Parts: sequence; C-alpha cells; structure tokens
Amino acid sequence: MTHSLSHSIGVTVLGSTGSIGVNTLDVLAQHPEHYHVVGLSAHTRVEKLYQQCLQFCPLYAVMTQESDAKDLARRLKQAGLKTEVLVGEPGLLHMVSDHRTHYVMAAIVGAAGLTSTLAAARAGKRILLANKESLVMAGALFMETVWRNGAELLPVDSEHNAIFQSLPRGAMRAESSLQQSGVRKILLTASGGPFLHTPMEQLRSVTVEQACAHPKWRMGRKISVDSATMMNKGLEVIEACWLFSAKPAQVQVVIHPESIIHSMVDYIDGSVLAQLGAPDMRTPIAYGLAWPNRISSGVSALDLFNQRQLNFLPPDFERFPCLKLAYDAINTGGSAPSALNAANEVAVAAFLEGRIRFDQIATVTAQVLDRHHGVSPSTIEHILAIDEEARIAANQIISAWS
Ligand code: NAD
Ligand code: MG
Repeated sequence: MTHSLSHSIGVTVLGSTGSIGVNTLDVLAQHPEHYHVVGLSAHTRVEKLYQQCLQFCPLYAVMTQESDAKDLARRLKQAGLKTEVLVGEPGLLHMVSDHRTHYVMAAIVGAAGLTSTLAAARAGKRILLANKESLVMAGALFMETVWRNGAELLPVDSEHNAIFQSLPRGAMRAESSLQQSGVRKILLTASGGPFLHTPMEQLRSVTVEQACAHPKWRMGRKISVDSATMMNKGLEVIEACWLFSAKPAQVQVVIHPESIIHSMVDYIDGSVLAQLGAPDMRTPIAYGLAWPNRISSGVSALDLFNQRQLNFLPPDFERFPCLKLAYDAINTGGSAPSALNAANEVAVAAFLEGRIRFDQIATVTAQVLDRHHGVSPSTIEHILAIDEEARIAANQIISAWS
C-alpha cells in the first residue's frame, strides 16, 4: 500500500515508549502534515504512554496489564481525550489491523513482538521492522505472510536499511534473487560494541553498566547487551538472510568501529555500494516512513572532514562466540534460530538481573542449542511452542548453576 504524501498516513507504533518508539514519534512530530498517530503501546510505563497520548491524541493506546490500562483510561478521560485504551496482545492485534492504520512501526523488543508484527503482515500493512526477533523466530512464515498479503516490509535496523538502500529497487520481491541483481555479498557492518578490545579474561567480570554502555548507539538494555556479546550481529545475519533471500555464506560481518558506514553491498563487477550517516536511528526510521521518497529526520549532515579514519576488521569468533552460534543456527535452519533467540533472551535477562556472568550468556545459549531437537515449524503455534521449550531449557541450565 503506497500512499501519496498529499494524504495523511495513519501510523501505529508498537513499543512507543522504547528507544525506537521515541525516535519514531520524534520523526512523526516533525511532519504533522504527512502523518498522524493511530495507535501507541507500552508494556509497563503508564506515565510515559500517557504523556505520548497527550501529545499525539491517538485513536488507540494499549497496555500489557489490565490494571495499567484502566489507570491510563481514567487519566485520559480526565484530560478530555477520546483515545480507546485496550489490553494486551488482543489490543495490539486490533489496533494493527484497524483500517485506519496504514503503517506499523514494529518496535516491541524480543519475542513479545512476534504476534503483533505478524498480524501487521497478515493485514497487508507497511511494516517498519525494528523487531528483528520476529524474523529470527519465524523467518519463513513471516516472509510468506508478507508476500501472500501484499504487505510492504521496510527494514529499520540501520544495517538492513543501509543494505536495502544499496540494492536495486525490487530486489526484496519474492521472485527476485541476489544473483539476479548481480550481488556477490552483503557486507554487514558492526561496531564491535564496548568490548572489542577488552582483554579476554576480563569478559568474565564485566558489569551490567559496562555491557549497556554502547560506544556509538543509545538503545534499550536487551539490544545493548546483545551488541556487547555480538549476538545482535548474529541475529542480524539471520535477519539479512530472510529479508534479502541470502545464504548465510553471502552475509559477511565487517567490524567497523566508527559506525559511519551502516552496511554495504558487494557486486560481481567489483562495485561496493554503501550507505553512510551519523549513527542516529531517525535516519532509517524516516526512510521507512517516506520510502520511496525522502523526508527530513532531524539528523544533522555527516561531517566527513571531522571523520579522520574509517577502520575495518574481521570478526573474532573466539571473542564473540554468540556470533558463531547464530551462524551455526541459521546454517542448521528449521527451528534452531527460534531456540537460539529464546535462549539468548532468557540468558540476557538473567545477566541483567545479576544471576549469571556476561560470558555465561553464550554458554547458556550453546547448551540449549545442543539439547535442541530441530524441526521445521510451519505454524505460529509451533514456533511459540519451540520458543517456550527453549526458555524452559535455558532456565533449567541457569537454575542448576545457582
Ligand atoms: P526498548 O527496550 O527501549 O523498548 C521496547 C519497547 O517494547 C517498549 O515500548 C516496551 O514498553 C515494549 N515492550 C517490552 N516488552 C514488552 C512485552 N512483553 N509486551 C509488549 N510490549 C513490550 O527497546 P528498543 O531498543 O527500542 O528496541 C526495540 C526493537 O528494535 C528490538 O527488537 C531491537 O532489537 C530493535 N532495534 C533497536 C535499535 C535501537 O537503536 N534501539 C536498533 C535496531 C533495532
Ligand atoms: Mg542494527
């Protein structure tokens, strides 16, 4: 569904109180003549969602818990707003499928975002995909749902957005292949996170604060830890395979600590196309909103003269075992990436709660994958059952340690 910019476009932001959600609302607020907000959602932060509702007057707001939804509804009514407050996943599905929602920003973190993102695909919406976990868990089913229902899938993850910008138009259609586009490789850049040069023996004792202090990007805690282990890059390799119909061997991770090049495409004639910019998520968000046009995002122009060097390094699988686990999972295929994602989510949560060490995130995930009996799931119910099974296994492993 492509809308001309002369009509206002209705946007629903799933996970509007998070880092991507807030950046999305920032871009939308700069273009009130082109976009209006149809729906917003939050997990626990009632006050923040209330403030966003006051600013954007959405038709819908969704909270995960009934008690929070009641609280929000009461306060919005007092403020004279007509926003309808809904609860939980049924609320998200209703809001996403509403005919007044044209675009859906999928910015809930983790597996919790799968069902609502898939509902947007089923409803044939334009999906601005930040929630990479949807594709990792349910890649085949998700892409098939997008194609079958004529949805538009636009990657917001900065690397995939850069790749999308560097590919010929139409390269992401079901019937097209990288080979037809003359692509040799996708070069997926990674900053390397906060521990790129930390002595290996110190990785055992890094703190939550150190792991969440990303050198280039300000993000939610889960993706910050994923960036520190480089599981984030592993999930992005899997995401790239599904988005661009690439084989894992066609996706090469390139460490680029400056995070100025957001990824590249290497063509058979020797050309390498890249997208550059300041590390600010409002650029890929604005691109997803306006595609195939462009709108301003609030991001300043890149100051190349201030950028003395751009460096590139190969990834070190010994330092970053999570990256290797992700390559192994996508090479195995079937349910392995779902199990990887679930085990990692449980392990990251345990690390953030101080229950396991940083280096044990990889150990938990590896052990879950070792125990996992691979299948080829074709339904969402089956995928969710695999996710649950891997979570139970990860929790058992962690409990046995303490
Ligand atoms: P965040 O933690 O800042 O925000 C997460 C949002 O999801 C919040 O609005 C929260 O209320 C909601 N949420 C959390 N758990 C939920 C649940 N169980 N049910 C319903 N809603 C829930 O995360 P973020 O950094 O904004 O990341 C969001 C997604 O975007 C992730 O999938 C991440 O991998 C991806 N992403 C983020 C960035 C970034 O710069 N932050 C970059 C690329 C991709
Ligand atoms: Mg990314």
